[in-house]
Amino acid sequence: MPYHWHMKILLVSPYELGRQPFSLAHVAGLLRPRGHEVVLIDLAQGSLPREGLETFDLIGVALGMHTATRIAVSLLPMLRRKAPRAILVCYGVYAPPNRGLLEGLGVNVVLGPEFENELTALTGGDGPDHGVKVRFVVPDRKGLPGLAHYAHLQLPGGGRKTVGFVEASRGCKYLCRHCPLVPVYEGRFRAIPRELVIADAEQQIAEGATHLSFGDPDFLNGPTHALRVLEAFHERWPQATFDATIKISHILAHRDLLPRLREYGCLFITTAAESFDDTILGFLDKGHTGQDIDQAVALARQAGIAIAPTFVPFTPWTTLEGYIDLLTRVRDLGLINSVSPIQLAIRLLVPQGSYLLRIPGFPDRLQPFTEAILGYPWASLDPRVDTLQARLQSWVEHAEGEGLDRLSAFAGLWRLAHEAAGREVPQLAADCAGPHIPRLSEPWYCCAEPTTAQLARGAVGA
Ligand code: SF4
Repeated sequence: MPYHWHMKILLVSPYELGRQPFSLAHVAGLLRPRGHEVVLIDLAQGSLPREGLETFDLIGVALGMHTATRIAVSLLPMLRRKAPRAILVCYGVYAPPNRGLLEGLGVNVVLGPEFENELTALTGGDGPDHGVKVRFVVPDRKGLPGLAHYAHLQLPGGGRKTVGFVEASRGCKYLCRHCPLVPVYEGRFRAIPRELVIADAEQQIAEGATHLSFGDPDFLNGPTHALRVLEAFHERWPQATFDATIKISHILAHRDLLPRLREYGCLFITTAAESFDDTILGFLDKGHTGQDIDQAVALARQAGIAIAPTFVPFTPWTTLEGYIDLLTRVRDLGLINSVSPIQLAIRLLVPQGSYLLRIPGFPDRLQPFTEAILGYPWASLDPRVDTLQARLQSWVEHAEGEGLDRLSAFAGLWRLAHEAAGREVPQLAADCAGPHIPRLSEPWYCCAEPTTAQLARGAVGA
């Protein structure tokens, strides 16, 4: 197709979990070959230019996460003011649910996570191609800070590895009610062609990555595709390692694949356990039980793969006793060293369009939507639970600031939870924390509120 005009394009990523932003690099890979000048800014690593914003024809802000959206909301009025003639675009999973808010802040175009065709059309390329599969290309990572600036892998023995971040699929075939992907993908997922995944891995390995982190919402949505990618990966780079996110029910259903994942270099699996309480798991429609978590942990360990569960411990159905049970199960499974402490203080977020709103009677428990949290606030039926959650969150921030180890951080959570329930605080055995496992230096908490420092970076130049 002929290029219609040359545009000067600024793409901004407010936050992507310590990863070099795929959401910017993929767009650059699409638009640079069309002759456009594309500038990439990752606000997790730097700031917006103080001057020259008015020279851009199009500014795209990637909203792949709640935290990114919170930062963007504080940033958009300044972008609109300083770049009055630019087409202001927000794209990603969190853009459509917040359409009204974003448009009120001056955004011209709101696109979902399958934005590539329409964004290309906005820059004078092919038409919107509604209904046509999104074109995938090799991400163009030029202009982003090097991988050494991003999250690295910390090994239990004290070593570290440079990490590359790749995606082998998009979307998810499940409908977990609390998941932000569900209102947008509605149970669909799409494989990214293997040769593109490998080409993206190659450029990051050439830059020093010795470990790849697969960012797929669930790596085994398409197990055949995943294995083909891994076979090619392992054949090219037999020494390289990887990690992936795999749901509990997939670990159980595909237990026969775990030894192959290990053989191909899998060091650890992140898995969204969410809760051990079967009633809460039922409300979330997670497709697993509390007992399944025990089994998944055992299966992964038998295969020689570490497992890093994530949780949403504070939900409208959480009780003090239930929370203490959760901590007890984490301890008894030897998972204290495998769980980032913030995971034990997270509060359920109910965004616009959430499938949680479909639970009969649940909307009655919610307060009106508020832009302050980009969601529907809720309160526990037992106010002591909300008070505890706030205390735990402060404790975790303090523990992280002080650099406490995971057992010390857990001990604080343990004490506060028992005190809140008016119970004696049982002694934690010195050897209860379980094995140390490899972990990324940026903890995984995609639904947490942005920090003051993150918001401040976005506000530079305001
Ligand atoms: S399996 Fe994971 S990614 Fe898929 S819908 Fe459930 S929470 Fe979301």
